[in-house]
Amino acid sequence: MTPDSNDLWFLPLGGTGEIGMNLNLYGHDGRWLMVDCGVTFPKPGRLAADGSMHHHGEPPVQMADPAFIADRRETLCGLVITHAHEDHVGGADPFHTRSQRADDPHAGRQYFPQRRLEAGRPAADWPWLIPNRHSRIWRLRAELIAALIGQLQGMGVKVITAEQSDLPIHASGHPAQEELEAMYRWVQPAVAIPVHGEEEHMAVHARLAKQTGVPKTLVGRNGDLFMIRPVPGMRRQITETGRLGWFKEALVRVV
Ligand SMILES: [Zn+2]
Repeated sequence: MTPDSNDLWFLPLGGTGEIGMNLNLYGHDGRWLMVDCGVTFPKPGRLAADGSMHHHGEPPVQMADPAFIADRRETLCGLVITHAHEDHVGGADPFHTRSQRADDPHAGRQYFPQRRLEAGRPAADWPWLIPNRHSRIWRLRAELIAALIGQLQGMGVKVITAEQSDLPIHASGHPAQEELEAMYRWVQPAVAIPVHGEEEHMAVHARLAKQTGVPKTLVGRNGDLFMIRPVPGMRRQITETGRLGWFKEALVRVV
């Protein structure tokens, strides 16, 4: 399972067919590039990409099992984080320290990446403080952000929020429908591969791509190999996928 110099492959290990824990691999010329390494906050009754239902008693924070790339770690050339929401970056810390005992047993801290902040340097908005909207943390968000902004201002950091800015600030990593349509019109890709959501979301996304003139769409789920070049196509379930959960200060396999 190695891409050659003619191949451009896309292999999602998490986040395709479900909400959260995005973990994607792009393969070319014997190497893999990882894009995003996020977590999910499972909600009982919500469907996972493997068709199983999340239930009560699961670890409250989970990430995609990176076994496929961990087994080929020498071929991994880097990790690109598209934006700093928890479902894109939250797993990066446990992934890099997998199977090691965490120094910080307070789980919340594990999933907030550190940012370098300096007095006098603007720190525009706080997208990385917005967790999954179903989590308990979400409900505390407003107070948390207000408290943090106060603290940072106390340090002399210039905080710019959307309300105070003269220029528009696009802080979400996720485009709205009109933005997707505009992007497809600008880029005019040969193929669209919807990711990041449950089957229903991806079907709507594929329809939208078709309506804006994209000739081919490929819809699959975690573990499917999407071949972008030389010939667009798919191979279903080329690798096992699964979930790891944070439980008693360690990563455990959930499914
Ligand atoms: Zn996301």
